[in-house]
Amino acid sequence: MKQMSRRIAAFIVVTLVLALPFAVAHIRLRAQAQSAAPASPAPPAQSSSGLQLDAIDRSVDACTDFYKFACGNWMAKNPVPADRSSWGRFDELQERNNETLKKILEGAPGADAGSRKIGDYYASCMDESAINAKGAAPLDPLLKKVAALTSANALAPLVAELHTIGVKPFFNFGTEADFKDASVEMAIADQGGMGLPDRDYYSRDDAKSMELRKQYVEHVGKMASLLGDPADRAAKSAEAVMKIETALAKAALDVVARRDPNQIYHKLSAAELQKLTPQFQWQQYFTGIGSPPIYALNVTEPDFFKAMGQTIADTPLDDLKAYLRWHIVHASAVILSAPFVNENFRFYGTQLTGAKELRPRWKRCVQYTDSDLGEALGQAFVKEAFGPQAKADTLRMVHELEAALEKDIRGLAWMTETTKKEALTKLQAISDKIGYPERWRDYSALTISRGDALGNSQRSNAFEFRRNLAKIGKPVDKTEWEMTPPTVNAYYNPLENNINFPAGILQPPFYSAKADAAVNFGGAGAVIGHELTHGFDDQGRQFDARGNLKDWWTPADAKAFEDRAQCFVDQYSSLTAVDDVKLNGKLTLGENTADNGGLRISLMAYLARAAKEPTGTIDGFTPEQRLFLGWGQVWCDNMRPELARMLAQTNPHSPGRERVNGVVSNMPEFQKAFACKAGSAMVRSTQCRVW
Ligand SMILES: [Zn+2]
Repeated sequence: MKQMSRRIAAFIVVTLVLALPFAVAHIRLRAQAQSAAPASPAPPAQSSSGLQLDAIDRSVDACTDFYKFACGNWMAKNPVPADRSSWGRFDELQERNNETLKKILEGAPGADAGSRKIGDYYASCMDESAINAKGAAPLDPLLKKVAALTSANALAPLVAELHTIGVKPFFNFGTEADFKDASVEMAIADQGGMGLPDRDYYSRDDAKSMELRKQYVEHVGKMASLLGDPADRAAKSAEAVMKIETALAKAALDVVARRDPNQIYHKLSAAELQKLTPQFQWQQYFTGIGSPPIYALNVTEPDFFKAMGQTIADTPLDDLKAYLRWHIVHASAVILSAPFVNENFRFYGTQLTGAKELRPRWKRCVQYTDSDLGEALGQAFVKEAFGPQAKADTLRMVHELEAALEKDIRGLAWMTETTKKEALTKLQAISDKIGYPERWRDYSALTISRGDALGNSQRSNAFEFRRNLAKIGKPVDKTEWEMTPPTVNAYYNPLENNINFPAGILQPPFYSAKADAAVNFGGAGAVIGHELTHGFDDQGRQFDARGNLKDWWTPADAKAFEDRAQCFVDQYSSLTAVDDVKLNGKLTLGENTADNGGLRISLMAYLARAAKEPTGTIDGFTPEQRLFLGWGQVWCDNMRPELARMLAQTNPHSPGRERVNGVVSNMPEFQKAFACKAGSAMVRSTQCRVW
């Protein structure tokens, strides 16, 4: 099951294995937290073109605020539901996908083993009265092991056991391609062990941040009380947890620094790691997790591990135990009895992200089943929701987008021939993955027992953890997916140089076989362009055609790129996310570059197709206008201020409004399509452009 801690990490980064921000660059990281939708999501558009005509606010001038023009009526009619922190057209689509998953799960268990597993998992999660009757009892075996700990030096085997089942104290561990030899899997140890979304949450000194820290300590204390601690002991435990996590946070890298792959690549031998952290017995840890022999690994941030060792040494044993108890209950809360679920929601759902009500149980259970048995459930989803026509159409668009990017690169005035040649080699090497994996994951080694919701979750985590560890030292399998098929998202993986589009996003409003091509190019086409250009953004450009971290740029071309990128940094840094919080132009640089490049490439590709298959005005809009509206309407969205604040501080993506207005105001093509006068808000005096 997707635990809260993992879901919080998913705001910042989304990988199932290890949370590394550069590893996959997503079109969007969504608030998947405890938030829900209206009972009946809006149906796909009823129009000739595929646009949502009743979303458009015609009282607004497209040249003044294109986002409001494209989405104004939708926004007025779609306030954020009580059980959500935000509500947008991505969510409408995810909600439709979830309805499909619900039908599948309610129809399971069927005859085959995969269907039986997803059916049993879902039914166990749905059996709230059985879960409530058990209370905190399912945690007893783990809590007893913590209580039996005799010294800090004996931590490693217990931490190994906890990591295996999805509890994440101190750090994260997994496997990833070696940055410098991306054909081989290597073990990786990364910063972690914090319950707040990012290290800066432990140090910001504005009033809101200080209040949130107070609420967090209170939450940690309440969870300890729910485990049976008397009030004074619970309060003391919470203070101890805060102290340990603050020490870890102090030594952790910030979200911007972590975008630089060179700052999070430090290949050490196991002996060197042991020397760095003498207070933690790594060989015992490796034995405990059952990994293949580890001779070398990426210790992303050596300073973090040094500080972690010191923190372990400096902390009284009882406080270390309080910290482990907290992480056990934190990771398990969403699948425990109601008091745990509600208290977890009170902090992470309400205080942190602004939702008012818990989502209906079935929605949470669908989400956990997708998270833990995603390729068993996804197989059934693909059968229901993704046909050969969608796959063929998407592939055709991908090829058209790749041709457009090639043309764009060849025509760049700022790049020399030497670097262009390398860029084209990289572009040609990109592989395209569409819809779902060619080989489905084999879950036969995983036991799912009806009536054991927490056990199912822990065994699923252990299955996934061990499946990944078994790869260490082996060739990278680039056919694997890091997102499940029903996911409304997409990603580029710089270490594999591939683009990935789950079946879940290849649906309206992104793509429809019935929609006009211009609208499809504004939606799915721009998503494809977005992912393609990630191979050439501030992170992606540092990896070569084979996924190796290797500089293929001449110094002059690198400088020219950085000058152009700085234009985006300045542009987006000047925008306000919420209240006093500005966007972080450096944090969002890669995504903003991808949005700007992606829409331009998609327009180029569309115009090439339209030259062969011309269309005229449909629904009152020219082809170019429909493409821009297609893009704009994908981002219609309402968001609570709490979530807007959190995303501005942690998420590499800009808010929907800026993903639309920020991009179109950089494009002379937009100005022409809507006949905007110079000086209009949607016509910037300085227009930024990289690709
Ligand atoms: Zn992206």
